[in-house]
Amino acid sequence: MKRDYYEILGVDRSASLDEIKKAYRKLALEFHPDRNPNNKEAEDKFKEAAEAYSFLSDSDKRQRYDQYGHQGSGGTGQSFQFDPSQFQGFEDILGSFFGGGAFGDLFGQRGGGSSNQGSDIQIKIKVTFKDAVFGKDKEEVELKKLQRCENCVGSGCQKGTGPQTCSQCRGSGQQVTRQGFFQMMVTCSKCGGQGSWIPNPCKTCNGEGRTQRSFKTSFKIPAGIDNGTRLRLNGQGEVGPLGGPAGDLYILFEVEKDPRYQRDGDDLHQIVDVPWMTFVTGGKIKMETLYGEETVTVTAGTPADKVVRLANAGVPRVQRSGRGDLYLHLRAWVPTQLNEAQRGALEALKDAFSDTPTESSGSILDKVFGSKKKKKK
Ligand SMILES: [Zn+2]
Ligand SMILES: [Zn+2]
Repeated sequence: MKRDYYEILGVDRSASLDEIKKAYRKLALEFHPDRNPNNKEAEDKFKEAAEAYSFLSDSDKRQRYDQYGHQGSGGTGQSFQFDPSQFQGFEDILGSFFGGGAFGDLFGQRGGGSSNQGSDIQIKIKVTFKDAVFGKDKEEVELKKLQRCENCVGSGCQKGTGPQTCSQCRGSGQQVTRQGFFQMMVTCSKCGGQGSWIPNPCKTCNGEGRTQRSFKTSFKIPAGIDNGTRLRLNGQGEVGPLGGPAGDLYILFEVEKDPRYQRDGDDLHQIVDVPWMTFVTGGKIKMETLYGEETVTVTAGTPADKVVRLANAGVPRVQRSGRGDLYLHLRAWVPTQLNEAQRGALEALKDAFSDTPTESSGSILDKVFGSKKKKKK
């Protein structure tokens, strides 16, 4: 005995379309096969809800059902037909919750999109550090991919011939199959959903409408890209079979390292050796940055682990305007060889500085073991 459609969805007989949609969505989410793998009971409940919804969401069908019950909804109740093409509403509701794959599994057809769309491809490109920072107007690549057959221009047919309508599905590309008390529309097994077949296939592509060939393209490298940045070239992927639209081509960048810099997003870090005496007496150091020479002033008494930030001297931001910063990690450079005179002078100095350091080593340990808040902007 079939259950009442209103009872299945748990709504009043006077429920509005909105209430019906809401109730159905709740059930569909709860009992969706993706969430209940190998659960026959959930699957039945899901189908039951889908059937109830298909009737109560259609005002004509709902009226007939209200008047005649299940008799009015399609005779014996055995011939309920699950036609995905009539299920726009269904897709709308679930589309935002599940990927197209869920529908593909359930209804034997791809959810949305063209079924003969070509594949996306991805290639990796090595880029110098300089090109990654400043960008490059034109970079060229050559690759092999499936392209439209030049002999048949994608039709897959020999010259002067054409495709023939499939006799099994009469051109619709779909056929009816039964599963339990459902009749479902699935892709035609003879023509694979094309609705037609090719009696005289093109000899160049064996009737596929595409061949593997070399392909050259050029693109612009945006300034500021990093390792792993991906650029999409629309419609430059592989073409689909029989004139199907092309997928996209993705360029994945692999940026070479510059030995001078450690990159952290848009910021750069650099170690700068400074003669140890400069920390004591103060002085100026000249720096070659990515954007020209900079002079950094070291004040007298600067600690030997000082970090100097040069704002806007980092890598350009790809998505926003401006640049990151350059952090200079000053490091005391200590001479390893002294002559007699130098040694004597320093020994004398050492006696003059007999006092002990007052600053604890805490700040250095922080730098090694974290306490990030100090440095991050
Ligand atoms: Zn061909
Ligand atoms: Zn067919």
